Amino acid sequence: MTDGHGPVRAEVGVIGGSGLYELLDDVVEVRVETPYGQPSDVLVVGEVAGLPVAFLPRHGRGHRLPPHRINYRANLWALHSLGVRQVLGPCAVGGLRPGFGPGTLLVPDQLVDRTSGRVQTFYDGLPLPDGGVPEVVHVSMADPYCPAGRAAALEAAGAAAWEPVDGGTMVVIEGPRFSTRAESRWFTANGWSVVGMTGHPEAVLARELGLCYTSIALVTDLDAGVESGQGVTHAEVLAEFARNVERLRTVLFKAIGLLPAERACPCGQALDGLTTGLPGVPGD
Ligand SMILES: [Zn+2]
Repeated sequence: MTDGHGPVRAEVGVIGGSGLYELLDDVVEVRVETPYGQPSDVLVVGEVAGLPVAFLPRHGRGHRLPPHRINYRANLWALHSLGVRQVLGPCAVGGLRPGFGPGTLLVPDQLVDRTSGRVQTFYDGLPLPDGGVPEVVHVSMADPYCPAGRAAALEAAGAAAWEPVDGGTMVVIEGPRFSTRAESRWFTANGWSVVGMTGHPEAVLARELGLCYTSIALVTDLDAGVESGQGVTHAEVLAEFARNVERLRTVLFKAIGLLPAERACPCGQALDGLTTGLPGVPGD
């Protein structure tokens, strides 16, 4: 975990595509081993708004990993092990309302898990490679996202003249296939706003480590239930993301500069009074 000049540390973590950091100068690549296996890729640490920021391409470089095979635990643990306390998670989503078309930026305030088979906790009571056994811990997820991070993202988008949608529910599906029209209509009927494949369990795992997590959802397509064409394709999603990556980067970097230096949000207290059994995790 060093670059030859001492341990690499980071304050803020960003889980997103490589297009978000490839223009940064003087970056350091850090390979992190975790008790949960390999993160999606090497971490890239560079300076944004005067802060050391660790970037991790969620799908690995070259988009090697489908959403259901991403090692979410290793990703969050890797960021945590560099000292990261605030995580921003930009992601591509489908819009579930006609008004949320491609190019909409939405900062969700709620989450619905429709995934299956993903490991979604650090507290499974199973032994770690070092022989330690994590406790069984139940964290509150009533409000899954960091209020301070959400405020920073919203202000950053407004400042970049990209009026964001403030709040809404992101439903996360297992993928890698897109939704059927019936599923999509059902999501809409439930009042949910956008549908994605990676927002869970990232937010949960961040909370389990006492980290702040903020999702920034870029709508790349209208989901099958609200569009009348052939349904969304992966090529369309990638093309729309690429069209918006520059301004998404602008919003992201601005948001990093607006994050509070000292956390006053409740995220860091998620484990207060609990014994986690995990090395270096608050409550330990
Ligand atoms: Zn927070």
